[in-house]
Amino acid sequence: MSDYVKTFMSELKAKNPAEAEFHQAVQEVIESLELVLERHPEYRSAKIIERIVEPERVIMFRVPWLDDEGEVQVNRGFRIEMNSAIGPYKGGLRFHPSVNLGILKFLAFEQVFKNSLTTLPMGGGKGGSDFDPKGKTDNEVMKFCQSFMTELQRHIGPNTDVPAGDIGVGGREIGFLFGQYKRIRNEFTGVLTGKSLNWGGSLIRPEATGYGCVYFASEMLRTRRETLDGKICLVSGSGNVAQYTTQKILELGGKVVTLSDSAGFIYDEKGIDDDKLAFVLNLKNVRRGRIAEYADKYKEAVYTPFSGTETSNPLWNIKADCAFPSATQNEINAIDAQNLVNNGVYVVGEGANMPTTYDGVQIFLQKGILYGPGKAANAGGVAVSGLEMAQNSMRLNWTSEEVDNRLRIIMHSIHSACVSAADRFGTPVTMLMVPTLQASSR
Ligand code: NDP
Repeated sequence: MSDYVKTFMSELKAKNPAEAEFHQAVQEVIESLELVLERHPEYRSAKIIERIVEPERVIMFRVPWLDDEGEVQVNRGFRIEMNSAIGPYKGGLRFHPSVNLGILKFLAFEQVFKNSLTTLPMGGGKGGSDFDPKGKTDNEVMKFCQSFMTELQRHIGPNTDVPAGDIGVGGREIGFLFGQYKRIRNEFTGVLTGKSLNWGGSLIRPEATGYGCVYFASEMLRTRRETLDGKICLVSGSGNVAQYTTQKILELGGKVVTLSDSAGFIYDEKGIDDDKLAFVLNLKNVRRGRIAEYADKYKEAVYTPFSGTETSNPLWNIKADCAFPSATQNEINAIDAQNLVNNGVYVVGEGANMPTTYDGVQIFLQKGILYGPGKAANAGGVAVSGLEMAQNSMRLNWTSEEVDNRLRIIMHSIHSACVSAADRFGTPVTMLMVPTLQASSR
């Protein structure tokens, strides 16, 4: 690490204490940009890095709501408007009890680079709340969403800031949020993406992050003249990204043997086929149940609960070719990364945001495996959100073939941008140079 990065990081930590995930995300980017900064001293003197780590605006607000017992509940809402240099702020909303300022700042920071890579005109933002939708009734989720939007609506707009979904925010939540926005502002407009089809949503948006991640992994494999056909794949999570990652892997001839949630994981050595995946979609999206039920239904699968005290995740200690972490940040630590490599995994496509710790990433880089960092590999979701915005502006709907085709082209061009940036800066094996090309060419 250069003296510049060391000084920069110690100042950043002093100025933004107790924001560990934000520090981690910034350090990863700054280190990968060292060569760029060396070749472009004008960026240093114009304080580009100092500017880009400082959000343009941070909004934090109270969200009071009434639960089904008539009790008042109070949550905290956030929106980080990180950077609008190339378009309106764009990025998801996360509802999860772990949400805090540092987590949302890391997500908003990464979003800036990711959105830029899509080549669509979108700035970066992120938001959410420490509200936990798990175990809440539809009525409670609706009341929370209405209260959340009652405040958020004054800060967003189709040309200002366009939120979408993330962990804990899917079609149901986007519907409640959009309804409240429309009611207060008296306008039907593309202010949120991830909407349902019959009121302004885009075909392929639910599938986009997972499909895009698999397209990106296929591009990486293509550099070795290989495909996903016959590959054994580990997928974590069982939400939106995990579901459609699994679907696309199956379509391309791969075999998915794991899925998880925060309570544990299932290992199905025979593979999750279309019928089993349909069961998971219903379990998670309709019945909102736990992944343990998969092993009750399919006896060939083994369910392992997480104790919460593990030093490594047993899901990453299974023989396979590819891994698609699709749950949450820092779900692969250094031990997990080493286990993956020892078990033969040589392709990692990050569906989740920053799922690998700093030390874990170093192991992937040292081993020279095909490593697709989240900022590139999971950009398909926001890319199709950008396409949803375009369709809303034109008041037109494209077919699923049209959207999927555009998604493929975008993922292909992101991969090419990564490879050419890595080549230009003399580090051909590492995709960590992803932010470089955009940062240096814009
Ligand atoms: P969902 O809420 O649909 O699913 C999240 C999944 O991850 C669930 O299975 C959940 O289990 C599990 N999970 C969440 N938090 C934890 C945790 N702390 N420990 C263990 N498991 C956890 O979210 P998405 O699928 O939309 O998002 C998954 C990841 O992908 C996130 O990192 C998100 O930022 C990223 N992403 C999402 C995009 C999108 O378009 N949705 C776009 C780009 C990135 P449980 O139900 O038990 O909590």
